[in-house]
Amino acid sequence: KYILIWLRRDLRLHDNAAINHALQSGNQVLFYFNFDTEILEQLENKSDARLNFIHNELSKINQKLADIGSTLLVKHGPALECLSQIINEHPIAKVYANEDYEPFAISRDQKCAEICSSQAVEFQLFKDQVIFEKEEILKKDGKPYTVYTPYMKKWRSAFQSSEHLPYSYELNSSNTAQISFNKIPSLKDIGFRESSILLPTINLSEEMLSNYDARRNFPAQNATSNLGVYLRFGTISIREAVQKALLGDDQFLNELIWREFFMQILANFPRVERECFKSAYNNIQWVNNEEEFELWTNGQTGFPIVDAGMRELKATGNMHNRVRMIVASFLVKDLLIDWRWGEAWFANHLLDYDQAANNGNWQWVAGCGCDAAPYFRVFNPIEQQKKFDPDFTYIKKWVPEFETDAYPKPMIDHKFARIRVLEVYKKALDRF
Ligand code: FAD
Repeated sequence: KYILIWLRRDLRLHDNAAINHALQSGNQVLFYFNFDTEILEQLENKSDARLNFIHNELSKINQKLADIGSTLLVKHGPALECLSQIINEHPIAKVYANEDYEPFAISRDQKCAEICSSQAVEFQLFKDQVIFEKEEILKKDGKPYTVYTPYMKKWRSAFQSSEHLPYSYELNSSNTAQISFNKIPSLKDIGFRESSILLPTINLSEEMLSNYDARRNFPAQNATSNLGVYLRFGTISIREAVQKALLGDDQFLNELIWREFFMQILANFPRVERECFKSAYNNIQWVNNEEEFELWTNGQTGFPIVDAGMRELKATGNMHNRVRMIVASFLVKDLLIDWRWGEAWFANHLLDYDQAANNGNWQWVAGCGCDAAPYFRVFNPIEQQKKFDPDFTYIKKWVPEFETDAYPKPMIDHKFARIRVLEVYKKALDRF
């Protein structure tokens, strides 16, 4: 009988916890991926670059498996139904997968475990996506951290490099299911089209890593790793990324720790999916003007750094971190639009969209999250541009009509907006 390895957001054959554990059991492994219709139906853009990326990665995996006489089984349909089918069609003793900590995934996996147990198949999940899970880094009182800096310090003191090395093993014709080459469904078969968006190239060079802190805030410089989308879909493992980070300056590892910080926040406080982490902020009276929201999404606000970021996002599926903070602050603080609107826009457009990081960062900018920047810190988009894009290089790339008559006038007076948001926030907190 086989162990079924269900790949989800860990699209790699190397350094994969579930595969490593399966190989130790002595059973042959059979690889499986499900295009879950419940997830796909939510994607409005039928040429979503993320689907294209997943599809390419699956094709590569299938080719590698074909080289050793094995195959990747791919099913398109509801996750639970497809899993049941696979169990009925193949001799499967166990299903192994890696933990996914998003609320949707947790609930799906609970149901999968039930289906498996009803068919006398073992269902087991492994830690793979993070160095430390939600219960591994806790305060002295046993409660989760809700502030980043002490979490980061505890994370660093608990981390022993030798305990988190990449897994090494070899897949070959004797430890994989020898099933003849299987064609995976095309993008068209699953209702999608090719995307013209190109993925960013990973940069983990020594030069980038050792200058990270000094250069990371300048959007015109290609000075960050571009790891986001690859970590999201797991084509690179967190263990590999951390080993690289250890060669760079402290700040780069700190960013990977931010990722885990927000993952444990979502896992420990799943209510943040819908609500502000700090309840008082649920009282904010948003303006939520739809026309203003549209100007923001189209990069037509008349604030060049905001417009550059929003246009970059539409064109590439990416946006520099500094600019993400500026556009998010502009939406929430200057336009008084609910952070959840911005969160949803990013979720649809970011290649590296990750629920925990996106939610955590939006709440951070809105000032309503854990470890909140105080709400009275309102980014000034003009000052931010002077500091981080002083010669307009980034702006001119994305807003070619900048400084011509074709460029819109600012849609709002920032000074007015600043006073307004402080009043509205204060009112919400006073009422609490
Ligand atoms: P690098 O600067 O090279 O950092 C390396 C890695 O560290 C990143 O790939 C990411 O995994 C992690 N990281 C860095 N900064 C953060 C952070 N602030 N929070 C969590 N993890 C971090 N990141 C996402 O991965 N998915 C999202 O959906 C997402 N949404 C965001 C929304 C807003 C409003 C803001 C302000 C930030 C968001 N971020 C998100 C965080 C950050 O902007 C991206 O991780 C980063 O820009 C990705 O580029 P990079 O891989 O070159 O990052």
